[in-house]
Amino acid sequence: MIRIGDLDIHLINDAVIRADAGGPFGLVPRALWNRTYEHDDQFRIEMHHYCLLVRGAGRTIVVDTGIGNRMPEKVARLMALEHPNGGLLGGLAALGITPQDVDLVINTHLHGDHCGGNTCFAEDGSLLPTFPNAEYWTQRREYADAYLPNERTRGTYYRSNFAPLYESGQMTLIDGEVEVVPGMRCVLTPGHTPAHMSIVFEGGGQSVLYVADMASLAVHFTNLAWMTAYDVEPLITLETKRIWQQWALERDATIIFEHEPLTPVGRLVKGENGKLSLEPIDNAL
Ligand SMILES: [Zn+2]
Repeated sequence: MIRIGDLDIHLINDAVIRADAGGPFGLVPRALWNRTYEHDDQFRIEMHHYCLLVRGAGRTIVVDTGIGNRMPEKVARLMALEHPNGGLLGGLAALGITPQDVDLVINTHLHGDHCGGNTCFAEDGSLLPTFPNAEYWTQRREYADAYLPNERTRGTYYRSNFAPLYESGQMTLIDGEVEVVPGMRCVLTPGHTPAHMSIVFEGGGQSVLYVADMASLAVHFTNLAWMTAYDVEPLITLETKRIWQQWALERDATIIFEHEPLTPVGRLVKGENGKLSLEPIDNAL
C-alpha cells in the first residue's frame, strides 16, 4: 500500500496474461527488450493488470477494472489468462470491500484490458454494472472514439464494457483535467489513445503517478522511443512521456506501471551517463 496525504492507494492485480511481444514492443528489436523481459516458446511475455483501490476523503474509488470475467474462453486460453487471488474482485474482498461499497470507478481509457471488469453477466446472461452504486468516469473524447471505432481501433473497444453504463446514466463523461478528491486528479496523457488519462496523487510533499498506458511497462517510461504497437498516436505518446519523465524526476515521484511484471512500482533515477533507469520500490504492493 502507498499512503499519500490522507489517501491510501492499494494495487490490485486483476489478471496475468501472456501477450505476443509484438504488442508491447512494436518496433523495438527483440535483442533489446529481451535484456529485461523473458519470452516463452511462443515469443509471449507476461503482462499484469494493476488496478487501484483508493480510499480516503470518505470515498472508495477504483481506477481501471482490468480484463474482468467476461472474456470468451477461447481468447482467455490463447492469452493464458489467470486472475491471481480472484483478480480485482478477489483483491477488493481481501481488503473488506464489496462491489456495493465502491462509489467511483475511473477508466483511464476504454481499451478492453482497462474496463473489462466494468460490467458482469447476470444469471440470465444480461449485462449488469459490476459496481452497482458507483459513478463511472471516462473522458468524453475517449467514449466517442470507443463507441465508434475504426478498422484499426475496433479490436479492443467493446461496447459491452461501457455502453450499458452510459445508457443507464451511471457513466459520466469528463472533459480534460479533473480533480477527483483533494490530492488526486485525472490528467490527460494523450498518445496511446487521443484522450488517454493518467492519475496524479500529491500530498505531504510526495507525488505519485499512475501512468496507465502512457507507458505500459517500465521500460516504456525510461526509453522515450519505446512504445507499444497499440499506441494510435505514437509521436504524441513520445512527447507526453517527455513531459511526465521530467515531472517525475523533479518530484522524485513514485510511479505505478499498470502492466509491468517485474517492477510495477518505482522511481526514476538518472545515471552518471544521463541514462534513466527505474529503481524498484518493493514494499508498495
Ligand atoms: Zn493496457
